[in-house]
Amino acid sequence: MKKINFNKPYLTGKEDKYILEAVKSGKISGNGIFTKKCHEFFEDRYGFKKCLLTTSCTDALEMAAILININPGDEVIMPSYTFVSTANAFVLRGANIIFADSHADHPNIDETKIEGLITSKTKAIVVVHYAGNACEMDTIMAIASKHNIYVIEDAAQAIDAYYKGRPLGGIGHLGAFSFHETKNIISGEGGMLVINDEKFSQRAEIIWEKGTNRSAFFRGEIDKYGWVDIGSSFLPSDINAAFLFAQLEHLDDIQQKRIDIWNKYYEGLYELKQRKIIQLPKTPDYSTNNAHMFYIVCESANERTDLIEFLKNNGIGAVFHYLSLHKSPFYKKKYRGLDLVNSDIYTNTLLRLPLFYGLNHDQSFFITDTIKSFYL
Ligand SMILES: *Cc1c(COP(=O)(O)O)cnc(C)c1O
Repeated sequence: MKKINFNKPYLTGKEDKYILEAVKSGKISGNGIFTKKCHEFFEDRYGFKKCLLTTSCTDALEMAAILININPGDEVIMPSYTFVSTANAFVLRGANIIFADSHADHPNIDETKIEGLITSKTKAIVVVHYAGNACEMDTIMAIASKHNIYVIEDAAQAIDAYYKGRPLGGIGHLGAFSFHETKNIISGEGGMLVINDEKFSQRAEIIWEKGTNRSAFFRGEIDKYGWVDIGSSFLPSDINAAFLFAQLEHLDDIQQKRIDIWNKYYEGLYELKQRKIIQLPKTPDYSTNNAHMFYIVCESANERTDLIEFLKNNGIGAVFHYLSLHKSPFYKKKYRGLDLVNSDIYTNTLLRLPLFYGLNHDQSFFITDTIKSFYL
C-alpha cells in the first residue's frame, strides 16, 4: 500500500488557465477581475452582503479586530481549543483573551459558558465553527445583543456549512474564511472577510487598502485618494484570486466528494463507536456537515500517541490538532481563568484522519480497517 499523506491539495484543472488569464490581463495586483468574480460568487451563492478577499483568514481576523476598534485592555471571549490566529488577531491590538471551554460532546465553544465571562470590558465573542459544524448561533447572538458586544465568526473551516439553513460566516457581525491548502476550497494561502453589518463596509475597504480610500477612488466616487485611517495590505494578488475562482467553480463537486469520504469513515468506524471504544464526530442537529474534517476521539493521550504511531507504520498520516491556547507557552502566564476540562480532553485525545478529494474508497477502507485492527 502506498503512503497516504494527511492532506493532498486538489486541483480542478482550470487553475493554470485562469492564472494565465490574470497575467495576460495586465493587472495582477489586488482587486482585479478574478477578485471581483470571487466576491460575486460568494455574494450570489450565500447572500453575503459584502466580501473582501484577504491573503489569509489570519488577515481577515486582524481586519475584524481593527474594525471593531479593539483597544488595549479590551476583553475578547473565544474557545481555547482553536488555532492561534483566532487569538493573535486580537492580542496584536492589545486585547486580553478570555478563553471558554468546549462542549463535552463537541469541540465548539460551550455557549452556556459565555455569559458568565462577560464584564464591562468585553468587546466581542469570537466563535470558531470547528470542523465546519455550527456553533449555537441564536443563543450566542442573543447574548451579544443583550450585552451590546460583537460576534465574529472564525469560519476558516466552515465554507458551505449552515446553521438552521443560514450560511456560516454570514450570521455574526463579521465572518472570516480560509483558503489555506488544508481547507476544502484552496488557493495556497488565502482568506476572506465577510461584512454582515453594513456599518463596517466602507471602513473595511479602507483598512483593506492600507488605510486609503483607494477603492472609492477607483469607483469614481472621489477625485483623489489618500491616507484616511490605519490599515495594511490585506488584499491578495489577482493571481491568487484566479486560482481560487477555479476552485469555486467546482465547489459542489468538491463538497460531494468530501461528504462521501466522510460517510465512508463514519460507516467504517461505527462498530468502534457502538462498542464505546472511540468517539466519532457529532454534528449538532442545528448544523450541517461540510466534511471539512474527520476526527475520532481516543480514550487517552497515550492511546492516541500509540495509534498515530501504528497508523504511521502502516503509511497513514493521521495528526492531532489544537493545543489549548490557555496552556500555550505564550499565554499560560497571562491566563487567570478556570480549568477548561473539555478543551484539554480534545487537546490530548482528538485525532484527525486524512481527508482530501483524491482519497479513494480503497484507501479510506484501508484506513478504517487499520484503525479497527489496532483496537480489535
Ligand atoms: C486554518 C484556520 C485559521 C487560519 O487560516 P489561514 O488562512 O491559514 O490564516 C484560523 N482559524 C481556524 C479555526 C483555522 O482552521
